[in-house]
Amino acid sequence: MDEEEEKQIKEHQETLLKISMQSGVSLLKEYYRATYSECWKCNEDILLFTWPGCRNENEEITPKEPRPKTVQYRYSKTAGINYWSNTCPYCESLQGEFFLYSEPDSPLFGFTCGDDSIESYKADIKTLALQCNGWW
Ligand SMILES: [Zn+2]
Repeated sequence: MDEEEEKQIKEHQETLLKISMQSGVSLLKEYYRATYSECWKCNEDILLFTWPGCRNENEEITPKEPRPKTVQYRYSKTAGINYWSNTCPYCESLQGEFFLYSEPDSPLFGFTCGDDSIESYKADIKTLALQCNGWW
């Protein structure tokens, strides 16, 4: 890992920590990968979480406990089903799959969470930090 990447990862972690404190949402490590964005509805800075298997369409994966309080099992009108999703700690809006993943400027565009191992976690943290830096 080069110096520039290390710096970006560090900055990303610091921003996550700041948003965690502001919003009262705990960062949980080594299973939940975090990044951040503005809520599409109220524009507050919020943490967004992803976890192993969270986009598995064949099988519903229940994310491990303890869970971040904003990761909730909610009904999505757009999708027409209940699923585990990120919500906003300020206005409680669902941060839908489309908003998170589908557009080139989406916070998790093109991102697929790795498996439940420390190596995979580290690789994902790096990917998220570098990606976030690209558009923020
Ligand atoms: Zn909001």
